[in-house]
Amino acid sequence: MANEQKKYDVAIIGSGIGGSTLASVLARQGLSVIVFEGGTHPRFTIGESMILETSEAMRALAEFYDVPELAYYSSENYYQNIGTQHGVKRHFSFVHHSPGEHVDVEKSLQAVIPRLPYGHEIHITRQDSDYFLTSVAISYGATIMQSTLIKDIHVKTDGVEIITTKDIVFEAEYVIDAGGMKSILAQKAGWRHRDALSHSRTIFTHMIDVPCFNNVGPSKEVFHHPYRLSEGTLHHIFKGGWLWVIPFNNHTGSTNPLCSVGLQLDPRLYPQRDDLTPEQEFREFIGQFPDLEAQLKNARSVRDFMRIDRLQYSAHHIVGDRFALLAHAAGFIDPLYSKGLYVTHASIFLMADLLLRAKKTGDYSANAFAPLETMTLGYINMHDRLVASSFKSWHNYKLWQVYSVVWLQGAYLEYLRLIMNRFRANGKREKYLELMKPHRLAGGGFDKFFEIQEQIDALMDAVNPEDEADVDRTVAEIRRLFDGFPWMPTTIRALLDGKNHLPDNKLRLNLLNRKVGFMGSGVYREHMFGDESMLHLLILAAQDEMKYSVRGIKKQRETRARLAWQINDSSPSHNHV
Ligand SMILES: Cc1cc2nc3c(=O)[nH]c(=O)nc-3n(C[C@H](O)[C@H](O)[C@H](O)COP(=O)(O)OP(=O)(O)OC[C@H]3O[C@@H](n4cnc5c(N)ncnc54)[C@H](O)[C@@H]3O)c2cc1C
Repeated sequence: MANEQKKYDVAIIGSGIGGSTLASVLARQGLSVIVFEGGTHPRFTIGESMILETSEAMRALAEFYDVPELAYYSSENYYQNIGTQHGVKRHFSFVHHSPGEHVDVEKSLQAVIPRLPYGHEIHITRQDSDYFLTSVAISYGATIMQSTLIKDIHVKTDGVEIITTKDIVFEAEYVIDAGGMKSILAQKAGWRHRDALSHSRTIFTHMIDVPCFNNVGPSKEVFHHPYRLSEGTLHHIFKGGWLWVIPFNNHTGSTNPLCSVGLQLDPRLYPQRDDLTPEQEFREFIGQFPDLEAQLKNARSVRDFMRIDRLQYSAHHIVGDRFALLAHAAGFIDPLYSKGLYVTHASIFLMADLLLRAKKTGDYSANAFAPLETMTLGYINMHDRLVASSFKSWHNYKLWQVYSVVWLQGAYLEYLRLIMNRFRANGKREKYLELMKPHRLAGGGFDKFFEIQEQIDALMDAVNPEDEADVDRTVAEIRRLFDGFPWMPTTIRALLDGKNHLPDNKLRLNLLNRKVGFMGSGVYREHMFGDESMLHLLILAAQDEMKYSVRGIKKQRETRARLAWQINDSSPSHNHV
């Protein structure tokens, strides 16, 4: 028997970035939504590094569901809208370490994130972003219950009952578990498993006084990198693990002195040290790498170090009759490549569409939501492949030098096709979803990429990274496969030949060349661009650039977003506080 009389269309467990974004979208589209949050905003959480695919997914959500606020997260341009607590991410950088040795500048990679057309990416301070997005959801009409922990859910044939720890019962047509790794629905359904290929555990915290790595190790000039290493996400990589450095204090407009730091270790090589505190274990481990130790020597944590045993989890299913798990509740592999938030936002897009359809048809069955399961689990599995091969490649830098190109080429294709999908859909959500169908997290849904990626991953599975001759054979074979893939940009291909960075400015006139330019040819051109002409694309790109410029966003904010009434209302009562 329900204590609360109202029956909501959708109930969401958890108001993290996922739950609050989904609530904003659904409420904006007219559904009645209630969100339960066990904690209280603002609250600390992890998942801070954005990638181009995530921000593009957020632009798509903003556009196709008419929630302009979501686009603020897509770029450094919008600090004025979302706050100065966030950092800038001008690159993804990797520096390889071996025990007892100083770093070798040749064993580094700086993948520059282009400033054009939308601005560099950002490091989001989650307590701020999640608080902001929760407020956005409220402003569109969602009901948010903070400090309300859900202890159980009863799924019935005609609806769901959500029960709080205070035994208050709420009713809804459908329930989404956006509770992250603790998902009560995954546990209740008995769907959790840990069958991933990848193995990693983590120790992380927020610190102050973390210097730029260029101040303690080789300078930017010695590395030959376009940017200082503090201007983006720095990955210290080594055999069996990696460590992230995600600064929030890395641009002149920042008001946040903190830096996020997290160590991932393969527990099969480095089992958890229960004889040490998490901080002691962290410091002892990095002590074997002199430059890494130097970077964090004087840094102090501002909160307790968190230590989580094996990170990987997934689920056999993620949809049932009248319920579904959002991406982070469905599964997670590793923070590597920062794909988590992309999976979250891509799944929100599809989930929202399915819920809006169900509201019309009354069909809330597992069958009706099956595409969500295929998509989410497919993305998680693809991430697992990338992470497992990457960890293995760090045993020998020669392997990483070629495998990093798989990651980069996959990300490039994915991002390009995501933008093209938005352009080609021309405001029609159904068309956008149709174009998204072949996507699998990386590779832009392009079969030819999937073919070589599968072959390369099979080679990575087989190689013995400790056997130099075997490594050389594998590297030669991977290069041969790339030679048979004519659609790789020259800037990425140069990495195979030993270059350690992507150029700062990727815009060149020869990109417009009809034969060898960025539109490529044959099946590639058809898949990525359909029948679009280069001229039409250039016009669309220019319009989009304007739309998402600071001025364009400001205009949208003033005319369409929730603040419009305040900004436009000139009645005296609104003119003074
Ligand atoms: C160590 C680590 C590092 C990561 N780094 C990155 C990164 O750099 N980039 C990236 O893209 N992704 C990263 N991720 C993934 C990222 O954290 C997730 O994609 C993201 O947090 C998902 O957001 P969410 O809102 O779905 O879940 P969460 O952020 O986990 O939020 C879940 C919310 O649900 C609430 N909740 C849970 N159970 C209940 C309950 N029973 N009742 C009420 N409320 C409940 C919690 O209090 C919480 O507020 C990382 C993940 C980990 C583990």
